[in-house]
Order: sequence, then C-alpha cells, then structure tokens
Amino acid sequence: MGSFKALVVDKGEGGQSVGLRDFDAADLMEGDVVVRVSHSTVNYKDGLAVTGKAPVIRRFPMIPGIDFAGIVETSSHPDFAAGDAVLLNGWGTGETHLGAYAERTRVKGDWLLPLPAGLTAAQAMAIGTAGYTAMLCLLALERHGLAPAAGPAIVTGAAGGVGSVAIQLLARAGWSVIASTGRPAEAEYLRSLGASEIVERADLAAPGKPLAKERWAAAVDSVGSTTLANLLAGTRYGGAVAACGLAGGMDLPASVAPFILRNVALLGVDSVMAPRALRHAAWTRLARDLDPATLASMTTTVSLADVPAVARAILAGEIRGRVVVEIDG
Ligand code: NDP
Repeated sequence: MGSFKALVVDKGEGGQSVGLRDFDAADLMEGDVVVRVSHSTVNYKDGLAVTGKAPVIRRFPMIPGIDFAGIVETSSHPDFAAGDAVLLNGWGTGETHLGAYAERTRVKGDWLLPLPAGLTAAQAMAIGTAGYTAMLCLLALERHGLAPAAGPAIVTGAAGGVGSVAIQLLARAGWSVIASTGRPAEAEYLRSLGASEIVERADLAAPGKPLAKERWAAAVDSVGSTTLANLLAGTRYGGAVAACGLAGGMDLPASVAPFILRNVALLGVDSVMAPRALRHAAWTRLARDLDPATLASMTTTVSLADVPAVARAILAGEIRGRVVVEIDG
C-alpha cells in the first residue's frame, strides 16, 4: 500500500498540531480489514479532537475522524470481502484507533456495517454519527413506549447535526416537533426540516424551577447542563428525555422532582459502543425514513484540507446541519 494522504494530529512541547501529510501504511494499527475511505464527516467530537479543546485523542500521532464510509480493499474477516461498501461509527476510531481522515484505514471487521441498501457513501456520511445518534435517541424514546399521541417532542441544539436529523426523524414519525435554537435566523431552515414551533435557546438555558409547566412529552437533547434540567422540568407526566450531548456543558444541575412526581425518564444515549444489532436497526431505519432531498438541503461538502477550519467552526456553534468530508484516492 505504501503511503497515503492523511490528516494527522501530533503532540509536541507546544501542544497539539494538525496537518495533512503522507502517512506510512506500515504505521496503520491492528485490524483485519483495510478500507479505502471515500467519505467522512465533521461531528462535534471531531471538532474537540482536531482542535485539542478536550482530550478526545488518546494516542499520538493520531488520524482523527470518528466515522467513515468506503470500500473494502483487503479483508481476512469472514463477513467482508474486497469491493464491499461499508461504514463505521465510533468504536474509538479517531480517539484510540487511527481514524477516518485518511485515504486508507485498517480496522476490526467487527466494527464495520455493510452500507445500508438505498444509501450512497456520501448520504451515509451526511447522516454520520450525529444522525445515527439522533436515530438512537428516537429508538430510545420509542422503546420507552412513547408515540406522537403523547404530545409534542422538543429538540435542542436544533440547527446542529444531531438536532437537524432528529427534527426530520421525529416529524417523519408523526411527532409535532418544537425546535430549540440559539440561531433564530435559522427558523425557516428548521421549519423546512419539519419543526412546527421554534423556541429560543435562552428560554431553556437559564436555571429554572425543579418542575415547570408540562410542555412536551419527549425530548432529544444534545446540549446538557441547565438546558437538560429544564427539559426534564417541562416534560409531561410519563414522558422521557433522550440525552446524548454536552454542547452546553457536561453538568446536570437538576432535581429528582420530575422523576418522582411526574414519572419522567432520563434515557442515556451512547453511539460509540452501541451493540451491532442496535446499529443495524438504526441504520436500516435511517435509510428507510430520511428524505434524500431534505438530507441534501442540510449538508455541506468539504475536502480533507478544510477539516481544521470546520472543526473550529463546529465548536463555535457556527455549523448548520451536517458537513461531509470527501476524500480522494
Ligand atoms: P453540532 O455542533 O452540529 O450541534 C450542536 C448544537 O448545539 C449547535 O448547532 C447549537 O445549536 C447548539 N449549541 C452549541 N453551543 C451551545 C451552547 N453553548 N449552549 C447551548 N446550545 C449550544 O454538534 P453535533 O450535532 O455533532 O453534536 C451535538 C452534541 O451531541 C455534542 O455534544 C456531541 O458531543 C454529542 N454527541 C454525542 C454522541 C453520543 O454518542 N452520545 C454522538 C454524537 C454527538 P443551535 O445553534 O440550534 O442552538
């Protein structure tokens, strides 16, 4: 294989640095499948990793990038053969294992899924880890027994990646969707995805009462902190909040009142170590339920060289929807 182009994060005395360079294939990590990566994405966690704002990267040098789609080049795994179209989310790629921002990667076949029928590699990465996590949130709410008849669903961080896909999925499943955003200028965009009501981020960000007016039956939260506390406080009797993110903070200054007085449930959602069966279920449904035109309308495409700038922008809350990274080679 020789060498290939990769975005590499190094750590020196001055801290973390990132740049495009040739990477020697002999330095790839252990795995039974080599994939020619065609597309990746920039998720919030990638922003943290590439900028070094949080200790996402656990070994150096690291090729960041937590998700990819591509074609199998060589495989000794029984489920995959050369030429298969595959995708990967999480499992430590871009954190502990050399990741996606490269023309080649070597991973464990157990981490790969076949590219779902009906999706191109570019569409799968327009969904990416953010969209797959949005589906995990919806599945968690449904497993809890919630359906649109219970009342509206609220989505926080609405104009971001998880938020944008969550709005579409909930609306397609018949929910009346409230979108919470700090970017009121994106109201039309959020309505085009399926939101029927827009609320200001600030309404949920300030510390509130342990119990508030019951406004929604379900929530998908990518923000955390006081926002998550206020979501719990405003959830209807028997409702649930699926919590997957920390864009507003890692703390949770809440009380137990919604749990013990309103039977509200807090559902944790992790995409990184989610079991294969759940991943299959999520991706099959994503391929079935998302409208390709709406997905395209919330997606921007960039090159590998653009990733550091996009990483800074996503942490600044400036990215709308999803960003696909097209990888040549
Ligand atoms: P994005 O940056 O695309 O979206 C986050 C959104 O949150 C922003 O667009 C913005 O939405 C809002 N936001 C940003 N900063 C703040 C703030 N300080 N206070 C309140 N709201 C804010 O990121 P992703 O959608 O990729 O990820 C969202 C979150 O979910 C991240 O914390 C990420 O780490 C987490 N995540 C977790 C996963 C898991 O496995 N549990 C998997 C994937 C993501 P707006 O402008 O509309 O208000």
